[in-house]
Amino acid sequence: GNVLIGGGTGFIGSALRNLLRFKGYGITVVSRMPGPSRISWNELIVNGLPKDTTAVVNLAGQNVMDFTRRWTAGFKQNVYNSRVYTTSTLAKAINDASVKPSVFVTISGVGAYKPDPKKEYTEESPCGDFDFFSKLCKDWESAAKLSLESKEKCRLVTIRSGVVLGREGGMIKQLYLPFYLGLGGPIGMGEQFMPWIHIDDLASLIVYAIENPKVEGVLNGVAPTPCTNKEFSLAFGKALHRPAFIPVPSFVFDILLNKERAVMVTEGQIVIPKKTLSTGFKYKYPNIDTACKALVAA
Ligand code: NDP
Repeated sequence: GNVLIGGGTGFIGSALRNLLRFKGYGITVVSRMPGPSRISWNELIVNGLPKDTTAVVNLAGQNVMDFTRRWTAGFKQNVYNSRVYTTSTLAKAINDASVKPSVFVTISGVGAYKPDPKKEYTEESPCGDFDFFSKLCKDWESAAKLSLESKEKCRLVTIRSGVVLGREGGMIKQLYLPFYLGLGGPIGMGEQFMPWIHIDDLASLIVYAIENPKVEGVLNGVAPTPCTNKEFSLAFGKALHRPAFIPVPSFVFDILLNKERAVMVTEGQIVIPKKTLSTGFKYKYPNIDTACKALVAA
């Protein structure tokens, strides 16, 4: 098959491309930068899906946790548009295609669920409209909806991902040095839950969604054992053989990132991958200790 990946140049996209290539898929990336096996968003709008596209994935999105970018109205609009409009552009290309791909896999975040220290959320739990990120997730997920006619032929799968743990990007890339220097630790009290998934498992889950005709709708892309921010810090410190007990007060993140954005790290929710497990998906890294050991060994 041939897979078209929006934002396929990024952290998750690179892991997905490696796995797809290993499995013998052809790959085209939609990117803002030209290159081999790439098309631009404008080319997608003008020419539609490349011929023989069998699956479409969207992983595009302006990096929210870019500490060098201030949380301004303009940056927030970038964060929003780069997710919602890329998704709707791909959905439209699928709707307009005379030969439909068999599946459209999109990503969203666990920020769809309201942070809570006790509630357990599954894919069926109501998602909110309570802050910037939950509204973003809602619009991002609706942007993927296909027209009724396309729906019969093209399956839609939306993966609500937790924090993706991998050496090449995301949170671990930012935390590696401080933790390596023994300066790591929890954020605030560290009691907030931190839904997470190892990058290899997320890439496998996306391929699983592509290859299994029975998989449809929302899947929580999180490991089956929830852990708190403190448990993660201890596991990562242990894997690096470093102490990791220096806490960083939450207000530091509120000031550095802006409170609205800081909720991503200062608050959390318990997310259960109920439907993901019920589809029969098998995790390679179901618990945080083995995941952190693998990250350090990688
Ligand atoms: P990256 O930042 O590594 O990659 C995202 C890709 O999106 C980039 O390679 C870039 O491709 C494209 N992109 C960036 N900014 C824009 C923009 N303004 N307009 C259009 N395209 C843009 O992100 P990840 O791989 O980590 O994440 C991919 C998606 O998964 C994101 O939407 C993210 O929100 C979501 N996600 C990630 C999590 C994580 O922990 N990493 C957790 C939950 C969700 P190019 O430069 O080629 O155009």
